[in-house]
Amino acid sequence: MTVPFLDLRAAYLELRREIEEAVARVLASGWYVGGPEVDNFEQAFADYCGTKHCVGVGNGLDALHLALRAMDVGFGDEVIVASNSYIATVLAVSMVGATPVLVEPDPRTHNLDPARVEAALTPRTRVILPTHLYGQPADLDPLLELGQRRGLRLLEDAAQAHGARYKGRRIGGHGDAVAWSFYPSKNLGALGDAGAVTTNDAVLAERIRTLGNYGSHRRYVNEVRGVNSRLDPVQAAVLGLKLRHLEDWNSRRTAVATHYRQALSGDDLELPIVPHWAEPAWHLFVIQTDKRELLQQGLAGTGVETLIHYPIPPHRQQAYADLGFAWGAFPLAERLAERVLSLPIGPHLSEEHVAQVVAFAQSALQRLAA
Ligand SMILES: *Cc1c(COP(=O)(O)O)cnc(C)c1O
Repeated sequence: MTVPFLDLRAAYLELRREIEEAVARVLASGWYVGGPEVDNFEQAFADYCGTKHCVGVGNGLDALHLALRAMDVGFGDEVIVASNSYIATVLAVSMVGATPVLVEPDPRTHNLDPARVEAALTPRTRVILPTHLYGQPADLDPLLELGQRRGLRLLEDAAQAHGARYKGRRIGGHGDAVAWSFYPSKNLGALGDAGAVTTNDAVLAERIRTLGNYGSHRRYVNEVRGVNSRLDPVQAAVLGLKLRHLEDWNSRRTAVATHYRQALSGDDLELPIVPHWAEPAWHLFVIQTDKRELLQQGLAGTGVETLIHYPIPPHRQQAYADLGFAWGAFPLAERLAERVLSLPIGPHLSEEHVAQVVAFAQSALQRLAA
């Protein structure tokens, strides 16, 4: 019996009738860009996040880069990003011509460490950009306080955190803007690329909408040099119906995570740490061990698929070779890249599969410790 890392087809099959109805409704409507399906989803997602505005865009990378552009971030500006984030967070900063300033995470939570952020600020810093990595909310209050004290904006990368809560409140309305991806494998996933920005700032929302629509607010009148990055109505219709299942699906993820946290143990095993103020969305369940390669091979031999998020930190990617960072420049990010392993998790992972992962992982860990 193989345990797939994530079975996206199962999500489709559970909602097959609803999804096919939603798609057929859009096909029959004649609205293939923009329109009521997009408006309805934007309103529903803003309500879910407890924010005033939601602007749909083409994908998560555009959500980040358009939010930065809307904040007038550009050449000569610096943006604080976690050194262990997914490459998209860093690329978004590069896309607007600004400089990504990598800051090491708190090794316990994998998320931006406020003390290290403060030490990295310069007169050029404009934005602090935490990622809620793996669906674990970053510690936002100290970052918000720091931002206020130093006149900086807070933009959150919430591509992995749909439904996560920080101090009881859902991610989506804490910072100046929050960027979302609805890439198919995310907790709220479309049937293709899709993204959004949520914000309580009407000016930012309007700017993002204009930037994503060729810089045009009124048809054929172009105020700025924008791009084409809009939420597709077919995706909006699918996301709208999936949003109604998100809480249920996230609670199934939490059940898997709870099982793993109770059942897995070992001297050379670090489990995810959940601060008392955090209610994670459990996008990924990431463990750490020095014997990562052997554990991954052992699990693969028993049919359990695992992945590594992420094997190469951004500063070591060829794409950023010009920044000139050697190994050792960001030791915490590098240590995570060498030790992290993501176990299967998702709303459609059966109890038998979870039990199988636990049994095989425990016996592999015992073998490796001997
Ligand atoms: C998925 C992801 C993105 C990018 O989203 P796309 O929709 O694929 O462009 C950005 N940041 C993080 C942390 C992600 O996981």
